[in-house]
Amino acid sequence: MIVIIGAGLAGLTLACALAEVNVPTVVFEQYGSAATLAAAEQLPDVVLDADTIAALHAAGLGEVLAAPVATVEAVRLRADSRTHRIALPTTTLAYRPGEARAVAQARYRHADLLGGLLERYIVRGGQPRWLTTAIAVAGLAPTGTRGTAVVASGPLPSGLSANGSLGRQVLGAEWVVAADGRDGLGRTIAANAGVQLVRHHHDVTWLVAVLAGTPPCQDPLYTTGSAQFAAQLPYTATTTQILLQIGPGEDPSAWPEDRMWAALAEWLGPEQLMAPGPVLSKVVAPVVSSGVELMRHGQLLLIGDAAHHLPVVTAKGANLAMHDALTLAAALQADARPDAVPRWERSRTAAAVSAHACTAGILELTHPPVQSGAGFVRSGRRRMLLGDPAARAAFAATWASTLPTDAPTERAG
Ligand SMILES: Cc1cc2nc3c(=O)[nH]c(=O)nc-3n(C[C@H](O)[C@H](O)[C@H](O)COP(=O)(O)OP(=O)(O)OC[C@H]3O[C@@H](n4cnc5c(N)ncnc54)[C@H](O)[C@@H]3O)c2cc1C
Repeated sequence: MIVIIGAGLAGLTLACALAEVNVPTVVFEQYGSAATLAAAEQLPDVVLDADTIAALHAAGLGEVLAAPVATVEAVRLRADSRTHRIALPTTTLAYRPGEARAVAQARYRHADLLGGLLERYIVRGGQPRWLTTAIAVAGLAPTGTRGTAVVASGPLPSGLSANGSLGRQVLGAEWVVAADGRDGLGRTIAANAGVQLVRHHHDVTWLVAVLAGTPPCQDPLYTTGSAQFAAQLPYTATTTQILLQIGPGEDPSAWPEDRMWAALAEWLGPEQLMAPGPVLSKVVAPVVSSGVELMRHGQLLLIGDAAHHLPVVTAKGANLAMHDALTLAAALQADARPDAVPRWERSRTAAAVSAHACTAGILELTHPPVQSGAGFVRSGRRRMLLGDPAARAAFAATWASTLPTDAPTERAG
């Protein structure tokens, strides 16, 4: 029995992948099914890398990818008043069931992905425990003996034995997987057990806004080398997200809409058709990455945002979460090697560290330096990237993939 806390993309991908190999699971989700799907309707589209799409197909979950919204073919970098389009490398794969196509990245509605996974899990006999909040995990022996228990408030699946006081049920499980996001229980338990939580401030603050009137963009656009950073990112079929670098602690009211439109027009270039229109949301956010130093403590495993949370700039969170889940499902199969889980932990921790380094590198490349003198190095890197086809190809390959980062630890393991 494997307990999964959280019915987000990480938790449901794991539950579906384990169902494919007949490993029994119980998924605890604190909200109801309708509320979970309604919340996903409000979330931005998810850009999946070709290697994530291929991995989902290989795990037998291709049908959840039936309805991509669009493909992403390039990343655009604006420097010296020019927009450079860097094409992303493509892989030929089953883009939709029965339709093979060369794809770099594809965009999916968050609710479609989540709903597809949920339907698949239920068809395979899964019964998510809605409105059931995991409130504690006990018996986490660091040596990893079996017999972990999870305490949940709410109903248990029929047929499972439980003991505990009213509303608190104790369930024995071989593994407990915390897929409960960056503010969930998993991080707290891990921290209380001595696992280090890491928070990295990137020394940058953004004004983050979602725009409705601007024609949605297909390929993301970032400024590099401007006095301040701006980005225009696909959000949904009808909306666009923009990021504008502002001073730390700056009040959003210091950014009335006319100032915001003027900055966007100047920094992103005139061709972006940033027609002033409705601003659906506007917040000020310091840019922070966070995560756990280890993705395993005894029988507790952390995956997805619970394990690592990155700024949106490289759109890697769901890709990492789904790879965490698919690779963990392989490690938890009945015939997996005895050391499969420790190997998984090493490999995925390295993947998260590598994704963090990639995100930090992109932030550094695109934002003006905080320290004087660093601008020389950055402008040199930018010139090399934009002027050298081999450097552009290497950048594009890193940008469009979540996979290569796994390789070194597999060797080390
Ligand atoms: C604006 C924006 C754009 C993004 N774009 C992309 C993109 O293009 N590509 C990409 O790869 N990533 C993207 N991401 C990141 C991606 O959405 C997340 O990394 C991913 O959804 C994380 O999934 P998760 O399942 O780990 O966590 P979550 O989606 O947070 O799911 C956690 C679940 O656990 C439940 N839960 C929490 N605590 C408990 C508890 N104690 N008991 C029971 N249930 C609990 C929660 O209710 C929730 O349902 C984007 C993020 C943002 C904010």
